Amino acid sequence: MTWNLIDMLAVDAAKLTTLGSRLHGSSGSSLPGKAALLVSPSVLKDLSSGVRKKIFAVCGTNGKTTTNNVLRHMLEAEGNTVVCNHLGANMLWGVTGAFTERAGLTGRLSADYACVEVDEASARKVFSAMKPDYLILTNLFRDQLDRYGEIDTTIKLLLEAIREVPDMKLIINADDPLSVYLAEESGNPFVTYGISEPVEAVGKESGNTDTEVREGRFCKRCGAPLLYSFYHFGQMGVYRCSSCAFSRPIPSYTASEIRLDGGVSFTVNGHRIKTDFRGLYSVYNLLAVYSALKEDEHDCSLFSETLKTFTPGFGRNEIFRFGKQKVLLNLAKNPAAFNQNIDAMLQDSAEKDVIIAINDHAPDGKDISWLWDVEFDRIADPSIRSVTVSGIRALDMQLRLKYAQIESETAETPEMAIEKKLASGSENLYVLVNYTALFPAHQFLTKRKKERDA
Ligand SMILES: [Zn+2]
Repeated sequence: MTWNLIDMLAVDAAKLTTLGSRLHGSSGSSLPGKAALLVSPSVLKDLSSGVRKKIFAVCGTNGKTTTNNVLRHMLEAEGNTVVCNHLGANMLWGVTGAFTERAGLTGRLSADYACVEVDEASARKVFSAMKPDYLILTNLFRDQLDRYGEIDTTIKLLLEAIREVPDMKLIINADDPLSVYLAEESGNPFVTYGISEPVEAVGKESGNTDTEVREGRFCKRCGAPLLYSFYHFGQMGVYRCSSCAFSRPIPSYTASEIRLDGGVSFTVNGHRIKTDFRGLYSVYNLLAVYSALKEDEHDCSLFSETLKTFTPGFGRNEIFRFGKQKVLLNLAKNPAAFNQNIDAMLQDSAEKDVIIAINDHAPDGKDISWLWDVEFDRIADPSIRSVTVSGIRALDMQLRLKYAQIESETAETPEMAIEKKLASGSENLYVLVNYTALFPAHQFLTKRKKERDA
């Protein structure tokens, strides 16, 4: 790698910024990267060129953080040092910060691998500096309405970014026609992973919503409707165009014999993968990691065993236990993520209480009309004892549920809602939050856990 004084100063500036924000009690994850780039605009390019083996990038609407963190876990379990933006700071500054954090005070980086999740809108900027060997694309769904606009914009942004690195191999979800279209358009080499059989016990209504039909079930090539043999959720399934030659590729990596009860399990390449992960979407995330590792010629025979020591990231199916009481915290920031959370929740037959917290700060998107695209009527299930709504838009959420004929309680903040339910003796509590509601909920649960363990 290149070494220069300016990069050393840039790394030191980042480290000082980290120290400074820690002293102020904040964990500003983008500031160190910003400071470093101000000192040396080429710092990301220089540091990332010091990665000894390979760089993996992870993009896609849902599942980025989990996919990236599982990948990191697998690489570290092989004894590698890995650069990773594990907390999910995935724009240019956050990605840069992950590298400066790992670099020494001399401005040199020592790492075997980098695995970095990258926000779709930031991908071009990041890829013009950091050149990944692989890009895992999880899926493409409509995100919060006013963040990126139409899904076409996201596809365009990603295409521009991918073309910055023509040798980068794409790891693509074969079941997502949007991802496959993107891969074919890019001209980059790609392989695919997928689920080729219908999966039992997946919410049959899931995927029938107007939104998802609008977004994904038309051929991007010619505009004709796609014909599906079956679908898993959203636009994910086995499809072909009713008019042109566009169709689902036969995946290089196929998950079969999928079970969803009591943690997902599946078979790939003759390996049985058993996990504590929930929901069909987890099969995709894990399969994506498996495929990427296989493409990079890793052994993977201990994939399932290694997974057992994985701890889920910040608010991604994160479980907090207080004696007999269990709280599952999960981010749900768009219709696809919410519908999959509902699926996962209904696969757990135990009695449960549910908290939904919706904020509308800038990172959440001001427009929360997407709540109407979530299949909330499905949570009118006998296993669900109560639903509590909270957050800034609690009343909108309550109204949404009312239309699905579901009564709900209100609490001002997610913290208050959690406290109230734990006090009432709930033993199985699901907390579904959108982006800015995640932080206070997480902080509260962590603090409560520390107090209890003290
Ligand atoms: Zn077509």
